[in-house]
Amino acid sequence: MQTNREFFRATRRGKLLKIVKEVYLREDICCGHKVCTKCEDTKRQLYTPEERARYEDSLSQLIGETVLVLDTNVVLHQIDLLEDPSLKNVVILTTVLDEVKNQNFTIYNRIREVIKDKTRSFYVYSNEHSKFTAITRDSGETPNDRNDRAIRVATEWYKSHLHKLNIKVVLVTNDRDNATKAKKLGMDVKTIKELVFEMSDQFPSLVDKLSSPEDAVDSADPNNASAVSSKKERFSFAEHRPTAVLTEELKQGKVFQGILRTDQTNYTQATVQCHSMNEGKGGEILIKGIENMNRGVDGDIVAIELLDRSLWTSASTVMLMDGQGVAEDDDSVAQDALINVTQTAQQPCGRIVGIIKRNWKPYCGTIDFKGDITRASGIQQLLFLPMDRRVPRIRIRSRQVENLVGRRIVVAIDQWDRHSRYPTGHFVKDLGQVGDKETESQVLLLQYDIPHHPFSEAVMKCLPDPAYMENLTESDMIGRKDLRGEVVFSVDPPGCTDIDDALHVKRLDDGNFEVGVHIADVSHFVREGSAMDLEAAHRSTTVYLVDRRIDMLPGLLSGNLCSLMSNVDRFSFSCIWKMSPEGVVLNVDYTKIYVVGQYLGWQKDPPTLPRLRFAASPSYTQGVRL
Ligand SMILES: [Zn+2]
Repeated sequence: MQTNREFFRATRRGKLLKIVKEVYLREDICCGHKVCTKCEDTKRQLYTPEERARYEDSLSQLIGETVLVLDTNVVLHQIDLLEDPSLKNVVILTTVLDEVKNQNFTIYNRIREVIKDKTRSFYVYSNEHSKFTAITRDSGETPNDRNDRAIRVATEWYKSHLHKLNIKVVLVTNDRDNATKAKKLGMDVKTIKELVFEMSDQFPSLVDKLSSPEDAVDSADPNNASAVSSKKERFSFAEHRPTAVLTEELKQGKVFQGILRTDQTNYTQATVQCHSMNEGKGGEILIKGIENMNRGVDGDIVAIELLDRSLWTSASTVMLMDGQGVAEDDDSVAQDALINVTQTAQQPCGRIVGIIKRNWKPYCGTIDFKGDITRASGIQQLLFLPMDRRVPRIRIRSRQVENLVGRRIVVAIDQWDRHSRYPTGHFVKDLGQVGDKETESQVLLLQYDIPHHPFSEAVMKCLPDPAYMENLTESDMIGRKDLRGEVVFSVDPPGCTDIDDALHVKRLDDGNFEVGVHIADVSHFVREGSAMDLEAAHRSTTVYLVDRRIDMLPGLLSGNLCSLMSNVDRFSFSCIWKMSPEGVVLNVDYTKIYVVGQYLGWQKDPPTLPRLRFAASPSYTQGVRL
């Protein structure tokens, strides 16, 4: 069976292009449940036993008595929750997967990792290619409505398909409209919150991972709105202007745009470089105080309006200390707690009137809990204190306070309501005990966004043969000078494995000196634009922690072929000076060379180094002493 899907796309020149996709609908797409016999029959007809084994091995299987079908909004907003291993037996429809891919590629990659993990029983059902569940868009139906309907149709199919086996199918959605329509069709529907609370006796940590925009669905309800506003009347930020308004005001030069750079020690003060200020010459705007910051978080791209010139001032140099002026219920003091200690020159000041793009990421920190843990029961509202002082505290909810106090945890921000002094977020993961070396190392790596994953296969494929230097060819030597006869040494601590530079110095016959600095010739092994080059560019540097080193390049290069070790031939890029005895540079030469290390390393007693080939040569000690 074949069906056509048509859609239109505008070209760059403004013409409409009609795209027709032919889709072949299949009858043999399996529901993915282990005990389903209907699909078993289909499979038996289609595959040889070997093919079937291979096919089944490639998939996760649904196993439980309840199967969950997720709506797109649940995947997009609750990925931390979905990554929790206690959530199992989930159907991901291709409609959902495609929507997630279009809206957020990072989340798409994360859900794919979950699907790959066979212990999780996440099954991808190709509903758009199945004869039983594929639908076409009705005239007048928005793409969104069409996708919602596709999800309902597929859920209904699952329900009737698994009905006789007593397997329950639940549609998990936070879309009110989709839920109402699905319930009308007799489906079992739950919000993610309902689902998680049902599971919370068995898996209490799940509740913490619930992302809070779920409340937004309730508060959008007019019956509920009054309750929310009366409770929070005491404090509110100015409303953010809508994107359309900001776009217009940016064009007219009424507001400026830039990246918010928050003070290292005080999240209520920031500066923004605005390129369009001062007739395009650019300038810096200072933002001071929590109200002018108006929910901007470090890294966000914000829209700023300048304050009246009479209000311009200078940056405050006071650090915001723990708990200073930020008592949970005292909304009046935070701004006043900052006193200017030194006055520097006044500068343009402004306030944030809108957020163009958020740059929220997971933050490491601790729970700020001063009460009696033993008396904390049920769900607690907690304040999370990020280690990064540029970030405000974050409200989270937890049922497991006793497990979180004293731990380094990761928290993500979900939203920042204008009636709340702090953003709200959710618990992502526990990194371990505060003060533990392993935990704190993890914190540093996460906090500073240091890429520390193992090198990919593509990178490892770029590596040369480990015995490369023993099998050199003519082409390796082109343009290289042979300095293997010189006494070349490095000044590195004992045990150093990545010796990236070395020196040599010798007296010339004319009384002058030759001084050379040799840098390992990494470019001989790392080709521009290769996977290894890109990865190294991304990492930028080797990172040294107390107990480990995170290499910029794989160990074969950083600790071997590009390390100027003793007694082995290595390539370097060198700078060689000719100097007078007074140290005046007479000549300089940059060249690629071929050196053999008679590298000394940093040793107290050179003559006890028998490994060095020329340890007995007078030029050796002479070179080092010079
Ligand atoms: Zn089946």
